[in-house]
Amino acid sequence: MPSIRISRIEKRTRVEGPGLRYSIWVQGCPIRCEGCFNPHTWNMEGGVIKDIDEVFYDIKNTLKASPELEGVTFLGGEPFSQANELSILAKKLKEINLSIVTFSGYDYETIIRSNNPSWNRLLKETDLLIDGPYIQELHDLSRPWIGSKNQQYRFLTDFYKKIEEVIPFIPNKLEVRLYPDGTITANGMAHSLDLHMLQQLGYIRKEHSCNE
Ligand code: SF4
Repeated sequence: MPSIRISRIEKRTRVEGPGLRYSIWVQGCPIRCEGCFNPHTWNMEGGVIKDIDEVFYDIKNTLKASPELEGVTFLGGEPFSQANELSILAKKLKEINLSIVTFSGYDYETIIRSNNPSWNRLLKETDLLIDGPYIQELHDLSRPWIGSKNQQYRFLTDFYKKIEEVIPFIPNKLEVRLYPDGTITANGMAHSLDLHMLQQLGYIRKEHSCNE
């Protein structure tokens, strides 16, 4: 059974793409952008390994409990390093009408030029691709979910065409969770100063959209 190496899962989030989403931060990234906020996701041997079916059933159960769940987001880490496995999962998710948002540190042209069959399969299942490495000198949080000016939204199907015009007006947000054991986690986009202040408040574990 194919499996996915995962850094973190957030079953319900509103800050990693449009609407309510189940988000999977994959483990492993060969791109290593300077200033990446998720360097703990770089190690190709880290994280936990989960069967695709196990993840799929968890998403199905989440959808049952939260019918407003709109889709699944793949970020990381580098989703295209596990493109074959993610494309298998994505295909199953499309069959239950969930949308797919995929982040990548590779730009779209590089992905297309590679002509890598697995990469093509993941592209085929992706509704919205957010592409390009995080470039510190181009840091910019004015658009939702992404961290630098070079990164772009690629509407690969019609699913999110309807929001293409309004995207620049969607505010960037940060979600902060407090768990019973006192752990605080955050995901989404925020200015470093705000994150630093949150870190002062507790044991915050930062997880951002891939490209920050
Ligand atoms: S920003 Fe994304 S692509 Fe760049 S090193 Fe970090 S995880 Fe990898």
